[in-house]
Amino acid sequence: MRILIIGEGGRESALAAKLQNDPRISKMFFANGNATTDVIGKNVHLSEIKELRDFAIKEKIDLTIVGPEAPLVAGLKDEFKKHDLKVFGPNQKVASLEGSKAFSKKFMQTYDIKTAKAVVFDSYNDAKEYVQTQQYPLVVKASGLAGGKGVVICDNIEEAEATIHDFMIRRIYGDAGIRLVIEEYLEGFEASIIAFSNGEKIFPCIAAKDYKKAGNGDTGPNTGGMGSVAPSPDFTQEHYADFEKNILQTTINGLKGEGFSFKGIIFFGLMVTKNGTYLLEYNMRFGDPETQVLMALMENNLLDVIQDCMDGKDIELKFKDEKAVCLVMCSGGYPRNIETGYEIVGEDKLKHSKLLYAGAVRRADKVVSNGGRVLNIVATGATYDDARKKVYEDAAHIHFDYGFYREDIGKF
Ligand code: ATP
Repeated sequence: MRILIIGEGGRESALAAKLQNDPRISKMFFANGNATTDVIGKNVHLSEIKELRDFAIKEKIDLTIVGPEAPLVAGLKDEFKKHDLKVFGPNQKVASLEGSKAFSKKFMQTYDIKTAKAVVFDSYNDAKEYVQTQQYPLVVKASGLAGGKGVVICDNIEEAEATIHDFMIRRIYGDAGIRLVIEEYLEGFEASIIAFSNGEKIFPCIAAKDYKKAGNGDTGPNTGGMGSVAPSPDFTQEHYADFEKNILQTTINGLKGEGFSFKGIIFFGLMVTKNGTYLLEYNMRFGDPETQVLMALMENNLLDVIQDCMDGKDIELKFKDEKAVCLVMCSGGYPRNIETGYEIVGEDKLKHSKLLYAGAVRRADKVVSNGGRVLNIVATGATYDDARKKVYEDAAHIHFDYGFYREDIGKF
C-alpha cells in the first residue's frame, strides 16, 4: 500500500511514526514533510492541489491523509475523488465547518449544538452598531481561515470597533475578515476531542489539553500550540456526558440533516464553563499538538482504524491507561518574527522520549530549524509528573540557537 501524507508539522510526524513499520505499507510520501518524515519515507515538494493530484496518480497512491485544513477547504477531496483517489478527510462543503466560522455557527444554531450565542455580520456599520450594546469581554472572529489569528477577545467597545475596522475595512486577513462572527465570551477551560468518522458514526478519542499561549502560566501571545497532554486532567465524566448529549449527538444529527457524510476526522474545540461544555469550533482534521499525545497512547493500529472508517465499519478506539506529555520547542521570536536556519543537536542523547521534528529539515547531514514550531518531545508515564520529567530531562539535551520552550507543560 502506498500512502501520501500532506503536511509538514509535528502532527504529520506523529502520524508517520504511528504508521511506520506497518508491513502493509510499502511506501510513504510526505508533501512537504520534515526531518522526521524523510527518514520514515520520502519528502516531496508539492503544494498546489493539481500537483498533489498528478503526483497521487503517477505514484499510484492508495490513500491520502491530509494534516492541515487549507487543502481540504480548497477542495482537495473533491479533486481527488474525480480521479478515484482515496482521501481520509471531508469534501470542500463539509470542510466549511472549519473553513467558515459563519457557516459553522449557523450549523450549530440550526441543530441545537451547545455553543456561545453569536451573530454573523456582513455589514461594517451593522457590526459597529451591534457592539455598542453588548456585554464585555466580547469575541470578534473573522469568518474565514486566518491561521489562528482571526479571533480577538475585546475588553471594551473601542477594542471591538478597532477589530471590526481591522478585519472589514483594513482587511488585515484579506477576504477571511469580510464576514464576522461576534459572540459572547465564555469563561472556563478548553479541551480538545478528536474523533474519527466512518461516514455514519463518530468515534471520539480521549480528551486532550492544548497549551495555546507562548509563555509559562498561559501568558503572552497565542500560538499554534506550545504543548499538549492527554488525557485532559480537568475533563471529567460529567463534562464528557454533557459533550456527548449536547454536542456529539446533536452534531451527528446535524451532519445527517445536511447530508454531510464524510470519512475522516472531526475535532471538537470545547470550552468547559460552570454552565457546562460548549463547542467553540470544529476542525475537520487532526489537531496539532493534540495528535502527538493521542498517538502516543493509542493502542489501535492506526491503519486499521483509518481503513475501517474508509470502509464504513465501526471501530473501537483503545488508549493506554497512562498519561502523555508533548513539549514543543520553538524558534526564537515565535510566534512573531522568527529566526531559523540553526543546526539542531542532541537527538542522540534522548533517553526516555520520542523526538518528532516539525519545522525542521535535513540539509546535508545536519538538521536545521526552518519554522516557528521546530520539534516536539513526547513521553508517556504512569502519572503526568512521570511523563513530564522524562520530557524535560530530554529537552535539556536538545539545542539550537535561540530555541525556547515552556517550562510548565504537564505540570498540575
Ligand atoms: P485555532 O487556531 O484553534 O484553529 P481558530 O482561529 O479557528 O482557532 P477558535 O478556536 O474559534 O478560532 O478560537 C481561538 C481561541 O479563541 C479559542 O481556542 C479560545 O481560546 C478563544 N475563544 C474563541 N471563542 C471564544 C469564546 N466564545 N469565549 C472565550 N474564548 C473564546
